[in-house]
Amino acid sequence: MIKKTASQTIIIYVLSFLLFTGCKDKAKNYADNDPVFKNIDATVKPGDDFFKYANGAWLKKNPIPPAYASWGIGNVVEEELRNRMKKINEDALKANAPKGSNTQKIGDFYYSGIDTVNIEKQGLSPLKDELDKIDLVTDIKGLVDEFAHLKTIGVETPIGAYAGQDSKNSSKIVLQLDQAGIGLPDRDYYFNTDAHSIAVRNDYQQKHLPTIFKLAGLLPDAAIAATKKVYDLEKFLADSSRKLENLRDPYHNYNKMPLTGLNKLVPEVDWKSAFEQMDYKNVDTVIIGQPEYYRAFSKALKTYSIDDWKNYLRKNLISAFGSYLSKPFDQELFRFYGKVLNGSKEQLPRWKRVLDTENGLMGEVLGQIFVKEYFPEKTKERYVNLVETMRATFKEHIEKLDWMSPQTKEKAYFKLRKVMPKVGYPDKWKDFSTLEINRGPYALNVMRANNWWHKYSAAKLGKPVDRTEWGITPQTYNAYYNPSNNEIVLPAGIFTIPGAKDEDIDDAVIYGYAAASTIGHEMTHGFDDEGRQFDAKGNLKAWWLPQDSVKFTQRAQMLINQFNGYSIYGLHVNGKATQGENIADLGGIVIGLDAFKKTDQYKEGKTLNGLTPLQRYFLGYALGWLGQDRQESLSSQILTNPHAPGFMRVNGPFTDVPEFYEAFHIKKGDKMWIDPDKRVKIW
Ligand SMILES: [Zn+2]
Repeated sequence: MIKKTASQTIIIYVLSFLLFTGCKDKAKNYADNDPVFKNIDATVKPGDDFFKYANGAWLKKNPIPPAYASWGIGNVVEEELRNRMKKINEDALKANAPKGSNTQKIGDFYYSGIDTVNIEKQGLSPLKDELDKIDLVTDIKGLVDEFAHLKTIGVETPIGAYAGQDSKNSSKIVLQLDQAGIGLPDRDYYFNTDAHSIAVRNDYQQKHLPTIFKLAGLLPDAAIAATKKVYDLEKFLADSSRKLENLRDPYHNYNKMPLTGLNKLVPEVDWKSAFEQMDYKNVDTVIIGQPEYYRAFSKALKTYSIDDWKNYLRKNLISAFGSYLSKPFDQELFRFYGKVLNGSKEQLPRWKRVLDTENGLMGEVLGQIFVKEYFPEKTKERYVNLVETMRATFKEHIEKLDWMSPQTKEKAYFKLRKVMPKVGYPDKWKDFSTLEINRGPYALNVMRANNWWHKYSAAKLGKPVDRTEWGITPQTYNAYYNPSNNEIVLPAGIFTIPGAKDEDIDDAVIYGYAAASTIGHEMTHGFDDEGRQFDAKGNLKAWWLPQDSVKFTQRAQMLINQFNGYSIYGLHVNGKATQGENIADLGGIVIGLDAFKKTDQYKEGKTLNGLTPLQRYFLGYALGWLGQDRQESLSSQILTNPHAPGFMRVNGPFTDVPEFYEAFHIKKGDKMWIDPDKRVKIW
């Protein structure tokens, strides 16, 4: 449901904001700082490859820096803003703030992360207590206790437990169990026969795992033996894990059962005791996402020896914290997860990595300081207004649909009306007062912060759902729709256009960049293949007439077929797994377009830097995907991510939109041409 891919989930802060309403009287004159004109590569025909036409000049001038797997608009903003964050951290360090204050926590966390002298001296010792606990395991009971404990400090185990909203009763938080426990990013990596998957799993078995085991203290022969067993164990779990596209059906991935049912499914585990040790109190019911995975887990507990499981846990412990330990650990994790999987050539400077980690763990603490300075109430209001413009236009689209019955339409209007927008930053901040942060060891700060998050989340069980909560920080270049709350969450960061003064940006660009690609996209998620199955209250409940569902599915299938036809580096896009995102992109574009048609800029029709308002709208949308990826990164994305690569998210849906052809005079015979009867229209 997230707009951007995970690699684009980055820390950025709001430098400036855009005006998108009430600027009809502003004479736009960008000179050479037109945010879309300057990126155009006029040597490319828009009808051949629109993405390259729109962004080509920028792509040529901005090769991917060695430390990055991809480089784009979000990174540019991120670079500017990391410097500001650095200053806040350095000021906090010098402030001598009272123990327990947010300022002390920020300063000391930063100190512990850049204190490489101590980090090198400490080597593996920060994990010694945890490794000792693993050493002491002698039987399945002890092993499960250790799974439970490691879960509370943020280490991957085969038990994918979390406290989350019950899909069928969104006012309740219940314990859920999903497939988990593998070291590669997706189960397909263990089986696929494409070159990327083979290269990744070969390296994992031949270099990465043996290195990690040697670093954990195993002798070379033992490290090789451990690698074989642990890889085999993971492959066994992966074999019973569902493929990405099979995780989309919310009914199929909902299997509610009493604790006695779980005890029957996995009799080797005393679940009551395990859950209590995981801080999950009074659990009597669970929702199992993938029962066949838990059957396999039960079998794996009997098949693999305690020693194999202990090696598996040692490896998972080091994977979780190695990046915060001395160089040998940090470098091996980067070599495999950064270079081999994503193609990065070198690591980011240490201070940037520390800031990124801090932002991930205590982002709201930083966010509070930033929004005070950079996100005034007035700006928030403007975006709230743009959300309402999009909501109204979406309703008009539903009214005009020829494939949906009046009964379902009425319910769709109701759901749309109930979509709750969260804009800019939360009204209420998380309270980190119980989190202890000191000047080191760094890995233990991270461990305590992981534990804080675990406890925070576990404490939600049995309590009313807090619908004001944000799952993302205000300084994030991303956004999301949460079907269980029927909400769109739009942080301040996502609306930033780097290097442009907000009052200078014309509506066309804003409607493409913010209204379509972010607001409309997230709103449409409430009506994509998954989201449409949830009602206005966020409950998984059939509210569509069956014939309307059939017609929706036929249209979605056309989009699946369209994206199945795209490939890169020999890897085909997974049309089924990416359908929700593609439906949201297409919806955002057509609804944003009609919202834009209501503006004076569109009605007046004046060109700006030789570009018509319609052209600028499509260029504004493409600006949201300005960027490029390394081959490894794109390959990983295709295998693991429900989002298609960025350039396809521009070129793909545009070919379905008649105004796109009109705006750029695209004719039959041009590469991007699709015959009108093949064009997909859903919303
Ligand atoms: Zn999305």
